[in-house]
Amino acid sequence: MRHTKVKDLLNSTTTLQEINAKGWVRTFRNNQFIALNDGSTINNIQCVVDFENTPEEILKRITTSAAVSVTGDLVESKGAGQKYEIQVKKIEILGDSDAEKFPIQPKKHSLEFLRENAHLRVRTNAFGAIMRVRSVLSFAVHQYFQEKGFVYVNTPIITGTDAEGAGEMFKVTTLPAENAPKNEEGNVDFKQDFFGKETCLTVSGQLVAETYAMALGQVYTFGPTFRAENSNTSRHLAEFWMIEPEVAFNDLTDNMDLAEDFIKYVVKYAVDHCGDDLKFLEGRLTDEEKSKPQAERSEMPLLEKLGFVIENNFKRVSYTEAIDILRDSTPNKKKKFSYIINEWGADLQSEHERYLVEKHFKCPVILFDYPANIKAFYMRLNEDGKTVRAMDILFPGIGEIVGGSQREERFDVLVEKMKALGIDEEELWWYLDTRRFGSAVHSGFGLGFERLVLFVTGMTNIRDVIPFPRTPMNAEF
Ligand code: ATP
Ligand code: MN
Repeated sequence: MRHTKVKDLLNSTTTLQEINAKGWVRTFRNNQFIALNDGSTINNIQCVVDFENTPEEILKRITTSAAVSVTGDLVESKGAGQKYEIQVKKIEILGDSDAEKFPIQPKKHSLEFLRENAHLRVRTNAFGAIMRVRSVLSFAVHQYFQEKGFVYVNTPIITGTDAEGAGEMFKVTTLPAENAPKNEEGNVDFKQDFFGKETCLTVSGQLVAETYAMALGQVYTFGPTFRAENSNTSRHLAEFWMIEPEVAFNDLTDNMDLAEDFIKYVVKYAVDHCGDDLKFLEGRLTDEEKSKPQAERSEMPLLEKLGFVIENNFKRVSYTEAIDILRDSTPNKKKKFSYIINEWGADLQSEHERYLVEKHFKCPVILFDYPANIKAFYMRLNEDGKTVRAMDILFPGIGEIVGGSQREERFDVLVEKMKALGIDEEELWWYLDTRRFGSAVHSGFGLGFERLVLFVTGMTNIRDVIPFPRTPMNAEF
């Protein structure tokens, strides 16, 4: 007999005869009531066991975390809290479980503890909800771009370009760690390596995506990205997923418009399709906020915060204006920032970004036109000769969620910039070809998918929105 998903049973519009459900026991009360969950929804279905006619050996095996199959009728529930329940006629234990040894007990566990049990934490309400929201968001990403006619491009994960300039890279090699072959200069001889050259895991698909935008017009990538930066923060992973659209003929304003429209679309999609999960996560967040000091509490419940982002324009502010605001701000004057802002040209730290978003503007902010020397080589130089057409989107509670720019399309200007920064022109010969053969204004950005999931789920640590996080000193599972 084919089983029916718990979600479909709970959404049924009529009672049903002879249905089968399969799932894991969340709780078993009074030797009679099973709360059964199969992952299709955050909600459990109540299964009422006929304990008088069920053998004692079977009843004993109905334990938290056991896998069971129940057959019976879907009937109107007499209990409060659910419309339907299953009147069980037959129960089969598919997989026994020693409930006492099961690490996830029906009580509140710390997120740290759950991280150590990342293979089982998905059996909790919170992680089930987070992972369903993550899945829906990733579908929304594709839907948004596909509806707009973008072409999905799979850029390489192993890259031979180390000039992407977005942070430390992981080496990919088949050479032995000990006694690797050496060249005449005494360095490791990568000519003898698998690819005949040094290779790494990608930190961004942008440079290759640009070559595709120069033929297909509108493209996007959505894939894993790796950064070996030793930043053990709640916003950084060593392995994360990035979405990178790249669009021919878009200038910086078009780029900001696209990013803002895209974010609003996917957030709205999640709100429209993840109602039960987001309601649960809102409750979780509200509980968590209660344990914080008043000053650090977020003023809005989760769904209101998401609605606010969907409905309001992001504030667009130039770097220069932002510096003025920060210089005159109370935490700067009282030396509360770890990095005091004195001069134009300073790189913004996450404390500054969060001040602008959370305290000053109280809405998402797009900062643009940054000093050239704190941004990557490929960003388009402005007429002032000192700023570039960069834009970062800053979100409450997150900081930077998007980094993007209009790209330098002028061959001479780009080459000059690369020379000044000591970037090997020969290595990037193929990138420079896009500027040799039919160059055009184009723009793009990178959005860190986990930071988006953090925002939508109201979680605070990025390790809790990816199934098996990779961070410094941690690659378990
Ligand atoms: P940050 O300053 O936060 O380290 P970045 O300037 O290095 O970010 P970009 O190189 O512009 O980031 O990458 C684009 C986006 O990818 C960022 O806006 C962010 O959302 C995401 N991102 C960057 N690094 C990480 C990371 N280590 N883990 C998760 N997401 C990241
Ligand atoms: Mn970084």
